[in-house]
Amino acid sequence: MQFENTLAFAQSIDQVDPLRSFRDKFHFPTFHKNEVRYFTGNSLGLQPKSTSNYIQEELDDWARFGVEGHFLAKRPWFSYHENLTEKVAKIVGAKPIEVVVTHSLTTNLHLLMVSFYRPQGKKTKILCEAKAFPSDQYALESQVKFHGLSNEHLVEFGPREGEQLIRIEDILSKIEELGDELALVMIGGVNYYTGQLFDMETITKAGHKAGAIVGFDLAHAAGNINLRLHEWGVDFAAWCGYKYLNSSPGGVSGMFVHERHANNPDLPRFAGWWGYNKEKRFLMEPGFQPMPGAEGWQLSNAPVLGMAAHLAAVDIFDEAGMEAIGAKRDLMTAYLEFVIDSISERNKDKCTFELITPKDKNQRGAQLSIMALGQGKALFDALSDLGVVADWREPNVIRVAPAPLYNSFEDCWWFGHLLEKAIQ
Ligand SMILES: *Cc1c(COP(=O)(O)O)cnc(C)c1O
Repeated sequence: MQFENTLAFAQSIDQVDPLRSFRDKFHFPTFHKNEVRYFTGNSLGLQPKSTSNYIQEELDDWARFGVEGHFLAKRPWFSYHENLTEKVAKIVGAKPIEVVVTHSLTTNLHLLMVSFYRPQGKKTKILCEAKAFPSDQYALESQVKFHGLSNEHLVEFGPREGEQLIRIEDILSKIEELGDELALVMIGGVNYYTGQLFDMETITKAGHKAGAIVGFDLAHAAGNINLRLHEWGVDFAAWCGYKYLNSSPGGVSGMFVHERHANNPDLPRFAGWWGYNKEKRFLMEPGFQPMPGAEGWQLSNAPVLGMAAHLAAVDIFDEAGMEAIGAKRDLMTAYLEFVIDSISERNKDKCTFELITPKDKNQRGAQLSIMALGQGKALFDALSDLGVVADWREPNVIRVAPAPLYNSFEDCWWFGHLLEKAIQ
């Protein structure tokens, strides 16, 4: 498609966008003096208009049934998470037995590493990305410490000198180099800073060849990338519900454990009653019998209000389907890239910025990271003042994420238009 940086052109693609009606299912922020152009679905997704109904139903059932709601509610709370399993499994490309919605992301990462990071003999090292999201860094460091090991067991890889992106061949050679010292590969599926998407299948194969376990943090991938976790053979993964998945601030999150680990009673884990064999949970017998599959990692009974918000959001994904979402993501991100490039070209004399996200659609999702040299923060502040909600990352990156479910091509045109205004 030959793109044009005009409002009329953007509107003309919106008109033939198969997902155009989904925009109307979301609340757009109204706090600003100007109309908000929302590009922060990678940080906090917008609220579906249906969310309040889903939550209200649970409040009503709570009022009506009290404790009996565990079994008598329209969606019984005892098994509430089961309403989410199949739909979330579709979003991440997994079998239902491999997925559970429970807890929050960092908690889940810890629970999974307790089971899957088992340093032994010389097999002690974790391979991770340098400058990972801070919570992941703390989680990894504390896991290593928890086993009485020092930070040198945490091996980082990053971009080459003078480059922004990480080369897959560098990851693979690091895996090979570590060989049988490598216990775990644990990285973000999409880098939160650059928006770079890693080839999870290739990394998983290489990790397995070295005899390591491979896990991913999919905070920036779930609901964004067309994942095939089962097929790729990934051992475990965790993500949050509130970024691309629009499931409320700090909302419930999901985890994936590959089927091959589903019935392994030898896996050590931190256990709680909700991971216990469902048929016998209320017998409260001593000795832990885990549920098969990912459900066996649940600790507590489900926070139903948060789960209801997640279900509202996931039902929208189910209606749209990840295929259509992925197709729009690629087209819209390419259009936004085109718009930003044309503004950049037209204003070369006034401002320099460069897109550091990969150009190849197979190496990115919906996020573009603009490196603004010179007056980066001032440019970002001017954009914010004009109604653009994007995201600033020190030292000089503006992250912009057009979310396929609710952003429009017109939004992307507006972004460019306001960027040019901000430059001037
Ligand atoms: C957003 C994000 C988190 C946040 O963790 P919470 O436990 O949900 O607060 C962690 N890791 C990554 C990579 C993220 O993008």
